[in-house]
Amino acid sequence: MIQVKNVTKDFTLHNQDSAVIPVMRDASLIVAKGECVALAGASGAGKSTLMRMVYGNYLVQSGELWVDGIDIAKARPREILKLRRESLGYVSQFLRVVPRVPTLSVVAEPLLALKVPEEQAKARAQELLTLLNIPERLWTLSPTTFSGGEQQRVNIARGFAHPFPVLLLDEPTASLDPINRAVVLDLILQAKARGAAIMGIFHDAEARAQVCDRTIDVAAFTPICAA
Ligand code: ADP
Repeated sequence: MIQVKNVTKDFTLHNQDSAVIPVMRDASLIVAKGECVALAGASGAGKSTLMRMVYGNYLVQSGELWVDGIDIAKARPREILKLRRESLGYVSQFLRVVPRVPTLSVVAEPLLALKVPEEQAKARAQELLTLLNIPERLWTLSPTTFSGGEQQRVNIARGFAHPFPVLLLDEPTASLDPINRAVVLDLILQAKARGAAIMGIFHDAEARAQVCDRTIDVAAFTPICAA
């Protein structure tokens, strides 16, 4: 479960006379188990900032931000890394990998990090890559040279390899053709059915309608003075 309680966030631009950009005031929301919640709001409203705070990339300035029983606002880096390994998945739009690591290992890696036996981890990776229509001849190659859509599918396979109880999705269907888009939406529905709490940014309105239970407009958390 994700629980955001009275979270505030400003950015201070140290290289610009310490100018302060207030982005969020008193943001509060809950994403329950088995629920998929879409973050909406115009560009600059704070969707990515909220997702990055949940993932522990941006510091929570004040308030509480609970993810699977850990308050990210107070957690130490080591706790956040453990949470990311075990409970908190993030499927971003872009694949970031170490060069020369084969695709199959890229996808299996989150499972290997959890000490899942190699054979089992690779089998799950193969299953997902097949489902996402990545041709087998590419599995032994590094995905660094793959097309945008292929990279996104490898990223999705990696993100769904371990059944994370909490998942963050950043435009998971952005560069996909209709067939792969349907596969991804099905993976999201399966994750919900097993009880995952999912928060995401979905510019694809049809995809949002198919998998999301609710939409939260983050503009509601914009400080009045920043409008
Ligand atoms: P959205 O995802 O809804 O488009 P963002 O969360 O990316 O919005 O941005 C919200 C506001 O916070 C914007 O005004 C943006 O310029 C500012 N912002 C985001 N990240 C940073 C950062 N690292 N440093 C300074 N300002 C930032």
